[in-house]
Amino acid sequence: MRQSPFVVNVAALGLGPGLRRHVNRRGSLDGAAVTASAIPSGAEAEVDLMLEGVPGGVVARGEVMAPWEGDCRRCLAAVSGELHCQVTEVFERSPDPDQTYPLAGDQLDLEPLARDAVLLELPLAPLCGEGCLGLCPTCGADLNEGACGCQAEVSDPRWAALDALRHD
Ligand SMILES: [Zn+2]
Ligand SMILES: [Zn+2]
Repeated sequence: MRQSPFVVNVAALGLGPGLRRHVNRRGSLDGAAVTASAIPSGAEAEVDLMLEGVPGGVVARGEVMAPWEGDCRRCLAAVSGELHCQVTEVFERSPDPDQTYPLAGDQLDLEPLARDAVLLELPLAPLCGEGCLGLCPTCGADLNEGACGCQAEVSDPRWAALDALRHD
């Protein structure tokens, strides 16, 4: 089995209590998705962290970056962007499953940290733009490309004519 690019050997890094080491790893996070957006399959995520040795574990601080893609919640057009997730996490020899990640021997696997970080940041309701007009609920036309004619005219020319008469 190929070694995951996200696995770090802290002994090889020379990391001990009170010491710091910078790590930068890239790899895919296939399958990281929420309902409306996902990390594209095969795309590279980047994990850039400062690791600090503490008694019984390691503190990791830094950033997880990854491209994302999804569908506009109003018009369903394809939208994409880049996630920048700030993280501060603890790896411990005796981890608390809800709070910290495991340090197994000298092996630190940064993939669960990266996955958890992007899952928190992936947009739940992406928009192609703040002003997206969405789809017509009646005919399904993309209203960003122009009015479809389903909605009543905002100002009816007959009323406009009456208004003109009244003001005369
Ligand atoms: Zn849209
Ligand atoms: Zn319509």
